[in-house]
Amino acid sequence: MATITLPEAEVKETKAPNKASATKYVYSFGGGKADGNGKMKDVLGGKGAGLAEMTNAGLPVPPGFTIQTEACREYMRTATTSKEVERQMDEALAKLEALQGQKLGTGENPLLVSVRSGAKFSMPGMMDTILNLGLNDKSVEALAKRSNNPRFAADSYRRLIQMFGNVVLDIEKAAFDEVFDAKKKQRKTKLDTDLTAKDLQEVIVEYKKVVKKHAKRDFPQDPREQLVLARDAVFRSWQNDRAKHYRRMNNIDDMLGTAVNVQAMVFGNLGDTSGSGVGFTRNPAIGTKEFYGEFLMNAQGEDVVSGVRTPVPILKLHEILPEAYNQLREITTRLEQHYKDVQDFEFTVQDGKLYMLQTRNGKRTGLAAVRIAIQMVDEGLITKEEAIFRVDPNQLYDFLVPRLDEKSTKVEVLATGLPASPGAAVGQIVFTADEAVRMAGHETEKKPVILVRAETTPEDIHGMEVAKGILTSRGGMTSHAAVVTRGMGKCCVAGAGDIDVNEKTREMKVKGQTFKEGDWISLDGTTGRVIKGKLNTLDPSPDDPELQKFMNWADPYRKMKVRANADIPRDAIQARTFGAEGIGLCRTEHMFFGEKKIGHMRAMILADNEKDRRAALKKLLPLQREDFAGVFKAMDGLPVTIRTLDPPLHEFLPRREELMVDIALLSSYSAKQKKELLAKYKDYSVKGAGDLKKALPTLLARVEQLHEFNPMLGHRGCRLGITYPEITEMQARAIFEAAVDCTKKGIKVLPEVMIPLVATVKEMANQGAIVRRVAEEVFKEKGMKVDYMVGTMIELPRAALVADEIAKEAEFFSFGTNDLTQTTFGFSRDDVNKVLPTYLAEGILKQDPFAALDQEGVGQLVKMATERGRKTRSNLKVGICGEHGGEPSSVEFCYRTGLNYVSCSPFRVLTARLAAAQAAATETLKVEGGRTK
Ligand code: PEP
Ligand code: MG
Repeated sequence: MATITLPEAEVKETKAPNKASATKYVYSFGGGKADGNGKMKDVLGGKGAGLAEMTNAGLPVPPGFTIQTEACREYMRTATTSKEVERQMDEALAKLEALQGQKLGTGENPLLVSVRSGAKFSMPGMMDTILNLGLNDKSVEALAKRSNNPRFAADSYRRLIQMFGNVVLDIEKAAFDEVFDAKKKQRKTKLDTDLTAKDLQEVIVEYKKVVKKHAKRDFPQDPREQLVLARDAVFRSWQNDRAKHYRRMNNIDDMLGTAVNVQAMVFGNLGDTSGSGVGFTRNPAIGTKEFYGEFLMNAQGEDVVSGVRTPVPILKLHEILPEAYNQLREITTRLEQHYKDVQDFEFTVQDGKLYMLQTRNGKRTGLAAVRIAIQMVDEGLITKEEAIFRVDPNQLYDFLVPRLDEKSTKVEVLATGLPASPGAAVGQIVFTADEAVRMAGHETEKKPVILVRAETTPEDIHGMEVAKGILTSRGGMTSHAAVVTRGMGKCCVAGAGDIDVNEKTREMKVKGQTFKEGDWISLDGTTGRVIKGKLNTLDPSPDDPELQKFMNWADPYRKMKVRANADIPRDAIQARTFGAEGIGLCRTEHMFFGEKKIGHMRAMILADNEKDRRAALKKLLPLQREDFAGVFKAMDGLPVTIRTLDPPLHEFLPRREELMVDIALLSSYSAKQKKELLAKYKDYSVKGAGDLKKALPTLLARVEQLHEFNPMLGHRGCRLGITYPEITEMQARAIFEAAVDCTKKGIKVLPEVMIPLVATVKEMANQGAIVRRVAEEVFKEKGMKVDYMVGTMIELPRAALVADEIAKEAEFFSFGTNDLTQTTFGFSRDDVNKVLPTYLAEGILKQDPFAALDQEGVGQLVKMATERGRKTRSNLKVGICGEHGGEPSSVEFCYRTGLNYVSCSPFRVLTARLAAAQAAATETLKVEGGRTK
């Protein structure tokens, strides 16, 4: 085969002109020439741009035209397509017909086309496609004659009616499946391919009845009408629920719209020298350099990806059609060299001749992304700087996914499927996406579930999102389940053919055993094994040498530090192994829930005078000191930010209603019940069973006193330390005693004491004074000083507004963006899920503001407070410790705002490191990271 060179495409001027008549809506490609090129993804969508680029390079691409995204946006605005779009489409169709020497759906050799969506960012399977368009009662006869294959013609026509009926006329797939399954049953066969031309012709008659019954109209016989209706249906599919959901998950702008690609059909289902396939130039699951993919002989592309038949590994094509195989290898290798990235391609072989239908940069797991980036640098294909951007920071999580612990239990392998997406998942079986959401997605009932399906479809996306893992009995490595889970970094075993899944009876049968909803299974997505029962999982090791190598390229660009939020030494040690450069938030209230401490804590809260409170605090002091010493030791040499007590006190006390019931029933309780009650209340200063009668009402009175209508806005944060200064005193003493003790042992300690929920400078001054006084006392007593800082959290809008004042007293700021989001929006962070799903579905909010920082609103406060604070104190250290500190787009924002560090949960440290490195490298290298869509 001749060597193909892909020219470096030039960018065409694609600015939308003012006058609609001047807009170029339709771009033709074919005959070695395309109106557009590979860089026009905004206009042509990824697929259209790829088709143009391949055509320009002389690759075998069936000709066609792309209706650009602006037409879709107009359709969204006006619910109609303009005359100019119609005119340009007719012109492009005429050009295509001339090129092919055929007419759409007419004549002895009718032109048939596919109509496919294609947005700027690939959204696999989320929008709609129609194949074989142009077939009708007449052209099907012509096709039968021309191909000398009446069965193929009938099969193509019934597929069109089915797809058209479903996509354009909104008829449920099941209505067609029923007809088809009944025919197979009648013919006593399981395989579609066993049905004869006559059988399929009968199916067509029935399909037409289905259309008439459900859509109240006939299947359109006019090919142009088919085309217009199909085009508009593809535009509409941009707005379907699963596409919207996918865009939300992937942060893709709702306003982009999709292009529509109309392309001459080539047929993979013409017989034994035809077939369809999909593939990747490297392994997208584990990143090995191998030609990777699947195909099916005598099948259309949809059959390969839908999982209806289990496909064959692509290397086998070499044995069946060596010439087409060699050409495919040659072309895809060139495509990879040209795009300098892994290609995910689709092809069809029609009567031995190869056609390329699509190429795009392939989605891959985090593991594969890192490995492939390193390989490509080694091969000289990309630079180290480019490699940094080849991994989405969230994907690094893949290196941290668990593995199955196979030593702890006997392992019974039920079946082995394809290792579609690595990691391990253990959970209870569910058979529908809705059930998965019910069990795993609900606030109060968060159970780990494994979604088991014969095959998944894009309609299952909400269930897949909440499931721990996915198991399918059909489909290959490029099936919907495999592709989607890899993108999510979620464990998946696909195509486990020994498992018989019955979604109706909600059972799965394998090895003579029946499993029902709620039964436990374990999946190994790295080997493809399905294991009976509930195995334990092992923590992954983040010390993969390739990951280290990759991070060593990225990290030098990073200017912001990355710390972790950790409360106990174990988490601090874990965070350090992930590369944390300090603790940005140690929530001390979490330390009080320990078994040894909770009793003293409760006694402290129940005390109604300072003397009793101090007595309880005295007991807590050594325990707190021990906690702090442990964290200091774990973070030897690195800063540790310790926050003074924050939660509402009633969180440590029993529920008011429960207490009332116990008091009311106490007199009727048996001795045994009283004993149980005593055990329940033993930590609340109840001395014995005889004391219950007196102690419980006293306890209730205190609970009543502490009860708040709005605890999140109540007696918490610095307000606690101001009303009970002895609490802050005790905590400060524990911190500094531990700091001095550790220093004496040679540990380098850098404590930063942080005051929460500050709104006024006087609050800060009040608490700061206590901390500094106690520090001096301890240093004097111990004869040693330790460097330390006292700062504040900025988590209330007022604090952001008066940050210049607060900075007079605070040596550092740390944005508590959880509370700052709560108080800026006025959303309760614990109850927002009552409104959030509707807000997201309606597009009122684009993202959950508690997950990704609302840069427009809350972000302004962050920016303002940083600027105002630094006006007062130019060297003010500023960080963030809300959940947003580990979310890539928020990390990027923090970098742009000039923060010194971000702090996040230990498992997000790697993600934050890469996001911070990419943010800085984008600026230094003047490249577009391309991550924030
Ligand atoms: C915050 O509000 O962002 C914060 C880190 O504190 P917490 O989540 O403990 O309220
Ligand atoms: Mg907070």
